Amino acid sequence: CGIVGYVGPRQSESILLAGLARLEYRGYDSAGIAVIDGDGHLGMRKRAGKLKVLRDDLGSDPLPDGTTGIGHTRWATHGGPTDGNAHPHLADDDKLALIHNGIIENFAEIKAELVSEGYAFRSETDTEAAAILLGREYHAAGEDLEAAFRAVVTRLDGAFTLLAMHQDHPGLVVAARRNSPLVIGLGEGENFLGSDVAAFVEHTRNALAIGQDQIVAITPGGVTVTDFTGEPVEVEPFEVLWDA
Ligand code: GLU
Repeated sequence: CGIVGYVGPRQSESILLAGLARLEYRGYDSAGIAVIDGDGHLGMRKRAGKLKVLRDDLGSDPLPDGTTGIGHTRWATHGGPTDGNAHPHLADDDKLALIHNGIIENFAEIKAELVSEGYAFRSETDTEAAAILLGREYHAAGEDLEAAFRAVVTRLDGAFTLLAMHQDHPGLVVAARRNSPLVIGLGEGENFLGSDVAAFVEHTRNALAIGQDQIVAITPGGVTVTDFTGEPVEVEPFEVLWDA
């Protein structure tokens, strides 16, 4: 129900956890983060319960440092509030992590197709079908994550904000939205994604509003926004005026 993404020079874990804490007002039953560390390895931790459960778990058994990361708080719609159903969901031999707000209405059909092709599922969520589909399309698209997103979004019915990253592309987070919110926060040598500006307002007040049916890619040095066919679109900058 809350989403945050970070790319830049700083360690992402504390930025992600602080962003998720600021999104707590939305309500949630589980939380998780994934980071890509300096060796180009993706680490992930997710737990049912309050953010404190995840925080304590990371405190006693830390993830490696990583400057690219995504974080999620979940409000379960498909599959109960368990550790396994929490996000992120992994694909492509655990090299790709994806988080999702919303509901993918046709996930059962996509899941059946992927299961028939031999892909294994580890959760009861609608979201995991999008994660595994993205892993398949990533390879079909010549390991281009944005192209893979374009292929995936045309298959999905329902409401989604999706964020994903792949360990072979450190410094890149790709996102898409339909019927669910997404904003970009613009920093100096770092950029943020959030389900709302609360996710990053303590770091930057310069934001971009993302329109319906758009795909975003953020790197430390810039952002690109296209429609679902890959055509660049104009985005509207705004300044966050409320107090952090
Ligand atoms: N439908 C997804 C799930 O149940 C995402 C829910 C959310 O928006 O947090 O896992």
